[in-house]
Amino acid sequence: MAKTAIITGGSRGIGAAMTKKLGEMGYNVVINYRSASSKAGTEQIAADLEKTYGVKTLVVKADVSKYEDCETLVNETVKAFGPNIDVLINNAGITNNCNWIDITREAYENVINTNLMSFLHMTHLVLPHMINHSDKKNQCCIVNTSSVGGLTGVINQADYCASKSGIIGLTRALALEFASRGVRVNAIAPGMIMTDMLRGVNQDELNALAATIPEGFIGDVSDIAGAMEYILKAPYVTGQVISPNGGFVLQ
Ligand code: NAP
Repeated sequence: MAKTAIITGGSRGIGAAMTKKLGEMGYNVVINYRSASSKAGTEQIAADLEKTYGVKTLVVKADVSKYEDCETLVNETVKAFGPNIDVLINNAGITNNCNWIDITREAYENVINTNLMSFLHMTHLVLPHMINHSDKKNQCCIVNTSSVGGLTGVINQADYCASKSGIIGLTRALALEFASRGVRVNAIAPGMIMTDMLRGVNQDELNALAATIPEGFIGDVSDIAGAMEYILKAPYVTGQVISPNGGFVLQ
């Protein structure tokens, strides 16, 4: 029987690449998005996965910064695929670029609620659906998208860095708490990856950014989907932060 995976922010960028990889790996995938503009694209990804890999999909619009929306996402999953959830990919995220004097309380709360609180909500709601059937042979897995911003600092992104460091703490603590119950919890901390988050940046600025990366180029979403695939297939890996970043940050 196919296993069930939920991904938050699966509509675009890194999340879309991970969603496609989950389908390729044979999971039934619950794909979450938030913006009305992403509805058609997300439904197209779902249709393509069903056609190409014969998996089942469910598309759920939910703002995961809100606990009630996370409850809806999990309830819809259970209604469609039953009470066992095998994989949770916490990926939804946003960024601000603002100095810490001019930033508004609303703006930084939005970043923390979207990037960090959603991960707390989703793990809190999904773990009961993992420990109900997981064990050493039948492991469940949580993969949290952090960032190199969570490993080091980034100027004008204090809220973002706080959220991404918080994700690493959450990952390590849950890995320890649930290791004996067959649930592995890991984080991916991408370096600079070409998605909508970077598309507003002009070519000169992109070249300047690339020059700061030892490997000399900006990463692709497939680098992150590949890291996720590795984690899902690695039974002895838990509590780790894997950082595909072209040598930008060394751990
Ligand atoms: P992106 O292309 O802007 O995609 C962001 C995704 O998050 C979209 O699917 C979006 O859904 C979803 N999302 C945002 N707020 C949401 C909410 N409240 N509820 C549900 N979904 C929400 O960004 P990306 O570059 O792929 O980023 C994905 C993750 O990687 C983020 O956590 C980001 O911090 C992290 N990351 C990215 C980079 C990079 O260089 N790109 C580097 C390090 C870490 P809609 O389509 O519905 O808006």
